[in-house]
Amino acid sequence: MKRVLVLAGTSEARELIGRMPDGVDVNASLAGVTRAPVDLGCPTRIGGFGGVDGLAAYLREERIDVLVDATHPFAARMTRQAAEAATVEGVAHVILQREGWTRQAGDDWRFVDEFDEVAANIPEGCTVFLGTGRQTLEQFANMTGRRLLCRVIDPPQRDFPFQGGRFVVGRPPFSIAEEVAFFTQESVDWLVVKDAGGARSRSKLDAARQLGLPVVMQRRPALPDAPVVRNVEDCLAWLADQR
Ligand code: NAP
Repeated sequence: MKRVLVLAGTSEARELIGRMPDGVDVNASLAGVTRAPVDLGCPTRIGGFGGVDGLAAYLREERIDVLVDATHPFAARMTRQAAEAATVEGVAHVILQREGWTRQAGDDWRFVDEFDEVAANIPEGCTVFLGTGRQTLEQFANMTGRRLLCRVIDPPQRDFPFQGGRFVVGRPPFSIAEEVAFFTQESVDWLVVKDAGGARSRSKLDAARQLGLPVVMQRRPALPDAPVVRNVEDCLAWLADQR
């Protein structure tokens, strides 16, 4: 029976695992960044592998035939390491990564590569919603004079690192109406997001457009040289072709 390892942490990974055909022995891996991860419905290991060598050893020891990298578009390190480990071990490998967002009429988006470029776009005195997660918060250290609101999934276990800002706890998805209400209540002037793509988290951008709020968006990191599929359907078709 073919053994597939899915590097998870996205809704696509969960959907893919749920739709895996009979005759596939599927295992999943999570980084362990959220405290109460959802049940993926298959054996799931949690925590880093220990770099390329650790993942290569895992693929070998667990006799994995196919590696599906269904991590988030901004999990660039894991994606690079997965490509390297699969090459080293000669394991079939595919990246399942949704398309980035497409601008609609009325969207006011400014693109940056790194978060330390955000400060040059947003004037002092503004209230800024950070939909970028807690892991990258330190990269906003030069945003002095702006009030930062950083949305996180788990209740924070530390104080907000910058004066005047705070964490906002919430588990996605949020409706457009919820996002509009939140941005209005908090008098948000600007949003900062990653070009994560996907319908589930597009609601904040739709809310920004409705309210006429500008958005600074981080461009996606480059992908390694490997096959890429853009949705679960195409990933299942790719898997079916692996004999
Ligand atoms: P990253 O920077 O690319 O990876 C950091 C390290 O975390 C990797 O070197 C690896 O450790 C470990 N890791 C990452 N994904 C893993 C997985 N699925 N299974 C086992 N170990 C994993 O990744 P990240 O941006 O911190 O994201 C971590 C997880 O959160 C990913 O599963 C991703 O899909 C999910 N996520 C990320 C974002 C985001 O914006 N970055 C958003 C939503 C969900 P070792 O080197 O020790 O193997």
